[in-house]
Amino acid sequence: MLQAKGKFPPWIKKRLPASPVADLTRRILEQYDLNTVCRSAHCPNIGECFARGTATFMIMGNVCTRSCRFCAVKTGKPSPPEDSEPERISLAAKEMGLRHVVVTSVTRDDLEDGGAAHFAAVIRALRKHNPQASVEVLVPDFKGSEDSVRIVVDAQPDVFNHNVETVLSLYTTVRPEAGYRTSLGVLALAKKLRTDMLTKSGLMLGLGERHEEVEAVLYDLRRADCDIVTIGQYLRPSPEHLPVVEFVEPAEFERYLGLCKQMGFRAVASGPFVRSSYNAIEVKDEAQRP
Ligand code: SF4
Repeated sequence: MLQAKGKFPPWIKKRLPASPVADLTRRILEQYDLNTVCRSAHCPNIGECFARGTATFMIMGNVCTRSCRFCAVKTGKPSPPEDSEPERISLAAKEMGLRHVVVTSVTRDDLEDGGAAHFAAVIRALRKHNPQASVEVLVPDFKGSEDSVRIVVDAQPDVFNHNVETVLSLYTTVRPEAGYRTSLGVLALAKKLRTDMLTKSGLMLGLGERHEEVEAVLYDLRRADCDIVTIGQYLRPSPEHLPVVEFVEPAEFERYLGLCKQMGFRAVASGPFVRSSYNAIEVKDEAQRP
């Protein structure tokens, strides 16, 4: 473990090579007027992912009704979801040639269904123009609403992803408006509703959690029958956000990877730069291997 003292350790470095594919990705996103969590959350992998022609669409605007202390997305009063957005995403995904489309959203506590129907509309539109592509949704907790989870699951995404983000003891600091048990319940319910659908969750390290607390989260996820887990290093998006307490060494991420495999997760991504949607297609393929 390396205590964070304002300096990045050598393994927290990313080169951002110029790439014509990344330029094309940006152009398509602009053309269809779409938001990505890659940009809105200041993801450190944006250069790499855009250069591979991938991105994670963020639906229902770029203003969130919650104010999680780790997240760079703006908080405020969002606009109503746009009816044309599902079609625009579907056409953009087609133009990008995506084989696996990842869609997330801001949290919309202002909407009665939390935006579940809009997620479902996006999944259906994606199926229309991209019949070969698999679809992964990274959803908010819908305040634990069974109806909302059911609306999304009924639209038949291939992967249902919801992040627990951190350990139980840090929820009040990191995700004050969310609940650890609520998030686990959302994952367990999604799996119960469709057992053949992959479920996925993720967490960040470096916020001050202890090993045994991380392990407890992993056991809780397995108990919720979660298939895939992602584990990455928290990086502070701005001085207004929570500071990094520690930079977890790559060997420690490897150790968690081994542990997760032993515990029976079907696929695991664990490393300093792993994010929920990082290499999402490879992770999904791994989970589907017999
Ligand atoms: S890891 Fe996910 S959020 Fe980050 S740039 Fe890649 S696709 Fe976007």
